[in-house]
Amino acid sequence: RAGFAALIGRPNVGKSTLLNALTGEKIAIVSPKPQTTRNRILGVVTRPEGQVAFIDTPGIHQAKGELNRYMVEAAISAAEEVDLVLFLIEPPQGETLDVTPGNRAILERLEKVGKPTFLVINKIDSIPKAKLLPLIALYGQEFPFAEVVPISAREKDGVDHLFQVVLGHL
Ligand code: GDP
Ligand code: MG
Repeated sequence: RAGFAALIGRPNVGKSTLLNALTGEKIAIVSPKPQTTRNRILGVVTRPEGQVAFIDTPGIHQAKGELNRYMVEAAISAAEEVDLVLFLIEPPQGETLDVTPGNRAILERLEKVGKPTFLVINKIDSIPKAKLLPLIALYGQEFPFAEVVPISAREKDGVDHLFQVVLGHL
């Protein structure tokens, strides 16, 4: 099995951290500041079971409340070129659950692209497990995800499983 997967999501959700965790190398710059990844970065993971090339898409800083068209266009054009999409989110902070307008905008466009899309909930180390299910339900209403995979890219929790899930769909 072999193929291409795009890492798509708003700035700071952990796309570059995930790429590094998958490849075991520091290919992509990780930073608490958005806008760190300016160009696409390709990381290839080769295992006995198969090979996947992951594309880390640029994250561009988004002014509050304003949709960043460039970021969305970059994400969508990457999605068009791959076999499947990993759509990353981070758990919302505080009590309120919400699909942010920025995520909704990308999801609407992704639906038209029509590639198998996985919801990757990153940073699960930062929330209680009880918050996961409502989050999965909320996003499940927004988009027909092929599968939901909770991970912590930083702790490398669930990352191997995610790789196997991706391979299973190629
Ligand atoms: P990107 O903009 O989507 O590429 O996000 P980065 O990979 O640059 O990560 C943004 C910030 O989130 C950095 O400070 C990371 O250390 C942090 N981060 C990434 N993954 C995790 C995770 O699994 N758990 C936690 N707590 N923080 C994370
Ligand atoms: Mg990045």
